[in-house]
Amino acid sequence: MFSLITEPYTMPVGTQKIIGVDFDEVIAESYRAMCALHSRNTGRRHTIEDCVTHDLCKLWGVEMSYLVRLLQEHLRGGAMHHPPFLSGAKQGIKTLSKRFGVAIVTARDVCFESATHAQIDALECDIHAVHLCTDASGKTASKAEICRNHGYLALVDDNASAVNDCVRAGLGGFVFGNYPWNRDYPVIPSACRVNSWRDLLEAIEVGALDYLL
Ligand SMILES: [Mg+2]
Repeated sequence: MFSLITEPYTMPVGTQKIIGVDFDEVIAESYRAMCALHSRNTGRRHTIEDCVTHDLCKLWGVEMSYLVRLLQEHLRGGAMHHPPFLSGAKQGIKTLSKRFGVAIVTARDVCFESATHAQIDALECDIHAVHLCTDASGKTASKAEICRNHGYLALVDDNASAVNDCVRAGLGGFVFGNYPWNRDYPVIPSACRVNSWRDLLEAIEVGALDYLL
């Protein structure tokens, strides 16, 4: 596996369990802005509701380098320091952090390292580590491998496939959000669907991860 960026923000606290949390569309809202930019570029309206697959390259017939440029443009437009966060994300992480460590596990390219850290700083939350899973050549490491190799308890991700991989690897998994790309995606039984940060916290509160503790 190629090297990953893993930058501890804080030292691990004793035997504290860590939960991996994806960034885009779980914490930060990015797809909406990327759809708007793609609409401008193509002269056709693209919305988040049209994104029936997580694979925007396939959906739009574009190269990954194009998506990287869209996200860069979004971040240059001020989202780096004033990112639109999903409803409840900031408070949700603060609440989750009372019981678990939180590590960011995102498929973002390593070229977004500084921008991602700036967005995370804007969260003003205690984040254990940040993993950007796609290297400069465009190769993406498995989130399940990252979570397992770091001893993380579970993954929260809008990418249902990544969640399924984690559950198959013996970790907990939450499919986050009711998005067109994940709402009909087959999720294996021990993965848990949550539509919001409130749902996620409630699921954990009533014991969704207890079998792993
Ligand atoms: Mg995501």
